Amino acid sequence: MAPPPEFCQPPIKPFEVAIVGGGISGLTLALHLLIHRVPTKLYEQAPRFGEIGAGVAFGPNSAKALSLISPHICKAFEDAETNNLAETKKSVWFDFRYGDTCDGRRPDGGLICTLECDGGQRAVRRSAFLDGLVKLLPSGVAEFGKRVESFTQDRDGVTLCFQDGSTAKHDVVVGCDGVKSRIRKCLLGEDDAASTPTFSGKYAYRGLIPMQQAAAELGPELAGNSQMYLGRHGHVLTFPISQGDTMNVVAFGSANAWDSAQWVKPVAKKDVINEYSHWGHSVRRIIDMIQQPDVWALFDHPPATTYYDGLVSIMGDAAHASTPHKGGGAGMAVEDAYILGNLLGAISDKSHIQGALAAYDATRRARTQRLVVDSREQGMLFDLELGFDDPDQLASNISQRMKWLWDYDITNELEEAYSLLKVHCAPLAVST
Ligand SMILES: Cc1cc2nc3c(=O)[nH]c(=O)nc-3n(C[C@H](O)[C@H](O)[C@H](O)COP(=O)(O)OP(=O)(O)OC[C@H]3O[C@@H](n4cnc5c(N)ncnc54)[C@H](O)[C@@H]3O)c2cc1C
Repeated sequence: MAPPPEFCQPPIKPFEVAIVGGGISGLTLALHLLIHRVPTKLYEQAPRFGEIGAGVAFGPNSAKALSLISPHICKAFEDAETNNLAETKKSVWFDFRYGDTCDGRRPDGGLICTLECDGGQRAVRRSAFLDGLVKLLPSGVAEFGKRVESFTQDRDGVTLCFQDGSTAKHDVVVGCDGVKSRIRKCLLGEDDAASTPTFSGKYAYRGLIPMQQAAAELGPELAGNSQMYLGRHGHVLTFPISQGDTMNVVAFGSANAWDSAQWVKPVAKKDVINEYSHWGHSVRRIIDMIQQPDVWALFDHPPATTYYDGLVSIMGDAAHASTPHKGGGAGMAVEDAYILGNLLGAISDKSHIQGALAAYDATRRARTQRLVVDSREQGMLFDLELGFDDPDQLASNISQRMKWLWDYDITNELEEAYSLLKVHCAPLAVST
């Protein structure tokens, strides 16, 4: 089926944007730019678009940004979306429970608190959501097997240098190339400490379990509705995906350092079982059910002092990779795409590109870097490392923490961004 007409209109802007990386960030930005009729090219290193099977969840702020960009993008999410299965749990983000008795002081599986939000737990299988986005992209926008190694820029534009020896020149480049971003390295400088991701002290085992099996082992209430089991130096979360056919599992643990060059690697199931052997009944059963577990080292970015230089910018994980403890990384990427897409869509003169990138940087940097810092701390909260494990303190801390992220009016942020754009681009008018 052909993409909807809003993504296929003839371009009208006198400059071309190159996006490096075709994950959630790159695809969302590309689609937003096409709506604004900006000529757009997307370079992806892989032979095709692809995501791992695991789940990703979107909070109220992320869902709002998706719908503001386009109802079609919102629908791609909604078509792939799974909520908690019980009617009474539709507005629940997570039930928080003790997954570890803390030497017999806490009840195994005991409820600490329930946190609700607008829309509740809204999760998709990553590959299904990405497929939905890809269907919206007209052919010819993406080029595959193109790994960017570096770039150079002059007043005229940016030359991308690919691993295959070829080059391509564009008016502006946006690096959406993830936590190991080459664009970030080149933009900040190889020697800048912020250009290298840092091990967060946490890792995660990820797995998918058929819902029938999970429900038989845990009961339908625990298996079919999002649960977070807290313990000492780790936590385990589950939520339903694939219209309730599958239970997604992420089991977190702690380590002082990550010595392997591989950030994702297969692990022996018996080692994972051994690691969680002192945990409570539900967690041990969940770990037992994971087939062929992989471990993911969780790296995040030290704060970058800028998200742009000249005609080159970064967004999504390339700009602010965070740990996943607030479930907010992909959502922040969508917010970035909303702001940057609108700014580039508002200008009609090549000489205003730097002004648009400067306005994007000034409006997005503080909020996105707050996610990185707060997410690390939230991981420590869930791993009972903040000096308390009593239910009242945990409940009040957990319920306060998500507010700044979820209760956010991104349309106000866009107005601020437009004001900055007008300052940067004065005296010429911009169409906002
Ligand atoms: C365990 C875990 C759970 C998470 N859960 C959530 C969640 O529930 N909610 C949420 O909002 N976020 C979550 N996140 C974070 C989320 O996954 C990321 O923030 C998001 O996927 C980032 O998307 P991206 O497009 O910026 O980067 P990526 O998904 O990493 O995409 C980068 C793309 O760029 C390509 N690329 C890389 N280098 C080059 C190059 N040099 N040249 C060309 N192409 C290149 C890659 O092949 C890839 O396609 C989680 C993360 C983890 C690790």
